Amino acid sequence: MEQPPPPPQYSNPGQGQPPPPPPGGSTMVYTHQPTFFNPIMFREFPVATTCTYCRASITTSTRYETGTFTWVACGVIAFIGCWLGCCLIPFCIDGCKDVVHSCPNCHQTLGKYSKM
Ligand SMILES: [Zn+2]
Repeated sequence: MEQPPPPPQYSNPGQGQPPPPPPGGSTMVYTHQPTFFNPIMFREFPVATTCTYCRASITTSTRYETGTFTWVACGVIAFIGCWLGCCLIPFCIDGCKDVVHSCPNCHQTLGKYSKM
């Protein structure tokens, strides 16, 4: 006859550790955000803003520039099959080009609106 060992009847009396004390003081939260970037969203049309170079209140002058979207549109048209010169159409359509905003006062480029 083999007798199993008796199950442990005892429990751990009061071995729980006391909760750690709350950390003194509050954590500093830094909400300062850098403002290096220009928050103005440049779109297809001239926008009224303050030039970051000459600090003048200006309305940007826009010009169209061949951008990534122009080449993509060219590639898409060529892929479809209209490659007999039709793929050059995006280069003639301003809507397919990037819009470059510049300051009419100091002629510095302020931003660019890309279709991509
Ligand atoms: Zn300027």
